[in-house]
Amino acid sequence: MSKRRMSAQRKGEIGAQRMKVLLVLSEQSVREGRPDRARRYADLARRIGMKTRTRMPDDVRICKGCLLPMMPGVNCRVRMGKHHITACCTECGRIYRRPYLKEQRE
Ligand SMILES: [Zn+2]
Repeated sequence: MSKRRMSAQRKGEIGAQRMKVLLVLSEQSVREGRPDRARRYADLARRIGMKTRTRMPDDVRICKGCLLPMMPGVNCRVRMGKHHITACCTECGRIYRRPYLKEQRE
């Protein structure tokens, strides 16, 4: 590794790029029925995110229970409730709820 200094912004850009690649690989692995690989890729992406202080892309969510990317229709069940969207990870059964009050107030 070169010790040359990089600006935080540049680091973030590279980090985001690498995270994207790893997350795509991770999702592919889930589809291929290789959760072990998927978990490894997702973990690497998460670590890059922490190291470069970059947030995960908004469209990708990693289950905190089993560390796999959650993909509706593949390993995640999404239901609309009265006040919440409920997403359930079918790998480990963890449930996530997200309110959608904003839309209801309109
Ligand atoms: Zn899970």
